[in-house]
Amino acid sequence: ETSIEVRDLRKRYRGAVAVDGLSFTVRAGEVTGFIGPNGAGKSTTMRLILGLDAADGGTALVGGADYRTLRAPLTHVGALLEPGAVHPGRRGRDHLLWMAHSNGISRKRVDEVLDQVGLASAGKRRAGTYSLGMQQRLGIAAALLGDPPVLLLDEPVNGLDPDGIVWIRGLLRSLAAEGRVVLVSSHLMSELEDTADHLVIIGRGKLVADTSVAKLLAAA
Ligand code: ADP
Ligand code: ADP
Repeated sequence: ETSIEVRDLRKRYRGAVAVDGLSFTVRAGEVTGFIGPNGAGKSTTMRLILGLDAADGGTALVGGADYRTLRAPLTHVGALLEPGAVHPGRRGRDHLLWMAHSNGISRKRVDEVLDQVGLASAGKRRAGTYSLGMQQRLGIAAALLGDPPVLLLDEPVNGLDPDGIVWIRGLLRSLAAEGRVVLVSSHLMSELEDTADHLVIIGRGKLVADTSVAKLLAAA
């Protein structure tokens, strides 16, 4: 079964420890909320899992493999990192077509995911005209493009309006129900407590709690 395995992961930037010996497992079929205050190390951990940054120590494996060794990576792992990562002059649909092309994904799939995130018509517009919520939806479309078994979503709720928040919660639930690995970060526990099955809570780069939501509620 696919999972994300983080073992004794470490990352230090000049002067500051961002990730400090972090270990946790993200299982398939659950929404795992990755919670911690701003600066706790959530984004750094996700970038290390994706091989966008080199760890100083430890390992992060996706489905037993190092992300950097995957072929057609978008078909293995989908990620939403920062909104606004698309060139403002580029049309949303063209951005996805370019991503699809380099991963052997069909044009038909591009239109499917645009429809799924509610950008079927807005996909023809330039990304520079998108609201933050639309940028998030485009980033989520990009993450879903390769129909990957593993999803990493960094603060996907940011910038969404109330309808968007209801929508993303339903999407997260259905992705987990399909048996995927879903790791979703937030600096607010309240954003994910009704949606997540499992919580990995970090502070200052260290694990604070790794618990099922059911257990947490039973203990409360
Ligand atoms: P979070 O996603 O939980 O808000 P981050 O992973 O972005 O936390 O940041 C963890 C810590 O590492 C913070 O102190 C942040 O300022 C620092 N940091 C993150 N990226 C860099 C970087 N590229 N250069 C220097 N410091 C960084
Ligand atoms: P988040 O809260 O989602 O982690 P940030 O605003 O902390 O977002 O980080 C956005 C980008 O800025 C990341 O690429 C991160 O590496 C970089 N960054 C964060 N903190 C620092 C820092 N102290 N010095 C340099 N770059 C940083």
